[in-house]
Amino acid sequence: MIRKNDLDILKSDMEASERIAIVSHKSPDGDNLGSLLAIGLSLEKMGKSVMFVKADMIPEDYLFLPGIERLKPVDGNMERIDLLFALDSSDPDRLGENKFLIDKSNKVVNIDHHVSNTEFGDINIVLPEFSSTGEILFELMLQMDMPIDREIASLIYVAISTDTGRFTYQGVTGRTHENIAKLYGYGIDAYELNTNLYQRRSLNRTKLFIKAISGMELYNDGRIGVVRVTRSMIDETGTSMDDTEGIVEFVRDTDSIEAACLLKEIDEEVVKLSLRTKNIVDANKVCSSFNGGGHSRASGATVEDTIENVEMRLVGEIKKYL
Ligand code: 5GP
Ligand code: MN
Repeated sequence: MIRKNDLDILKSDMEASERIAIVSHKSPDGDNLGSLLAIGLSLEKMGKSVMFVKADMIPEDYLFLPGIERLKPVDGNMERIDLLFALDSSDPDRLGENKFLIDKSNKVVNIDHHVSNTEFGDINIVLPEFSSTGEILFELMLQMDMPIDREIASLIYVAISTDTGRFTYQGVTGRTHENIAKLYGYGIDAYELNTNLYQRRSLNRTKLFIKAISGMELYNDGRIGVVRVTRSMIDETGTSMDDTEGIVEFVRDTDSIEAACLLKEIDEEVVKLSLRTKNIVDANKVCSSFNGGGHSRASGATVEDTIENVEMRLVGEIKKYL
């Protein structure tokens, strides 16, 4: 439940603020980008000056989002920030190079659904029972009577759809579907959004997918599956690390698999790992032991070690639960 007291404070802070900044997290996903553009465009309709700040490159998948061109790296224009929004970001480190904006801003609003959220804001609306940050935001915007048009509703649809595996994960409730129905009321074209999101994979990306999946390693009678994406695979297929989206979910969806791991070789001794689980393994706990985090069924971390060592260490950690 969104606490009324938080809403009252947030509403008066928004009214009192002129210059508002909204920051993305590192490796921004659909929930992060959809949510931040939705609230930012709505605040602009309320007459506020809004700065959209990115912490990383925007994956090509999301370049079709309305307003995406507004996201810029941090610049000298950010001398005064009355109110800063961090969305879908569990801790300050997720903001990457923009972490310093937390201290520079007069007030910080932290809206998120990660269990691992550290409540780093002045206002913390952290609700792990929600499917996505986008869904929290939609209810919040409705309750505060914020402007919502077709574009803003489309952005919220993208946030919820992408973060729930197209409405299949545990966080999805009847209320989620009711919220989606309300979004249709603003005239969204869900078919167009879905084709943009899910049917425009590049051929090179399909080639990377085949290469990576063909090297899948299995452990514990096929209950753990590990796929590596090395820098040479990226070079050979003319792709980027963003093109790994969807690989770990494909591994997870195998019948025998309880835990699916994707290891991305960012540098010789820097590995970004993604973990997806089904019923037994707490992904958030496993990733916390590598200084990462996320949700019980989907988490990640960045580890400074060789890809071989990270695979061994991660599998060892998962085996403790099986
Ligand atoms: P992904 O595996 O798709 O990168 O991320 C899955 C989930 O884990 C997302 O909810 C994301 O926010 C979280 N996550 C990914 N990497 C990190 C990390 O390095 N630190 C923390 N705290 N969460 C992460
Ligand atoms: Mn999310």
